[in-house]
Amino acid sequence: MRWMSSVGLSLAAQKTEAVLISSRKIVETATILIDGNTVQSKRAIRYLGDHAEHEGPQAGVQEAANDSQQVDHFIRGPDLGTSHERRQLYKRNQIIALAKRAANLLGFSHSIRRSGTCDRRSGAYRPTGKGGAARDPTLEASIDLWQARWDASDKGRWTHRLIPNIRKWTERPHGTVNFYLTQFLSGHGCFRQYLHRFGHDSSQCCPICPGEIVEDALHILFACSRFDNGRRALEREANVEICAENLVDLMVARKSMWEAVNSFAASTIRELRLAERGRPGPGAA
Ligand SMILES: [Zn+2]
Repeated sequence: MRWMSSVGLSLAAQKTEAVLISSRKIVETATILIDGNTVQSKRAIRYLGDHAEHEGPQAGVQEAANDSQQVDHFIRGPDLGTSHERRQLYKRNQIIALAKRAANLLGFSHSIRRSGTCDRRSGAYRPTGKGGAARDPTLEASIDLWQARWDASDKGRWTHRLIPNIRKWTERPHGTVNFYLTQFLSGHGCFRQYLHRFGHDSSQCCPICPGEIVEDALHILFACSRFDNGRRALEREANVEICAENLVDLMVARKSMWEAVNSFAASTIRELRLAERGRPGPGAA
């Protein structure tokens, strides 16, 4: 709760449920205080469409490992803020880990093998190519296979629309993905379409734009009139009209564009969150 308030988030008591995950065998309960309202923990809740139940630590953790999180893992990718050698090793391991997570997400078992030259003393991956990073044939083949399956899958299609090219994404020279950006890239976030899908909102439509327009990541990023100013600033930075098909390419090509999208994502999610808190819950009269 302290962390949430430090990043500008808060909980709506009437929409909050809690489940206590503990290693003790006896069933325990906990009470959370939110703005003077108490929320009692339950035996089971639904979280982002999945069922989480008080059945000991493994069950709780296992249940939480859902599709949403796996898409998020795929999106987050390698953190490149380290020295060159470590970065090579880290990036490589991250790509392998990402491929495995994506394999789970897409519902198939994907064999990703580790290979390549590893410096015994430093443990760092050693580039063997002339004047540049080594191309590990096994890893390259794995990424090609992963790409083919990413293209053929029927899951994560919004993310695929934004990030069609796995290699370009995982090898990007800059850019970490935070809490706000992940919501846009996955489509799993504080959007009415997503909240409504899991019974947390009474409607999936944008409350401002005329007509029955679904409020999803696409609408917020590229169309919603509430965010015209922020979108214009993004387009000035990009120097072109932005769309789902060019946004990530522009971000990967230029760090300043990455940062501009990050800041747009943070401010819009905060505003959507405030709007969501101000609405009555789906069960309200
Ligand atoms: Zn709108």
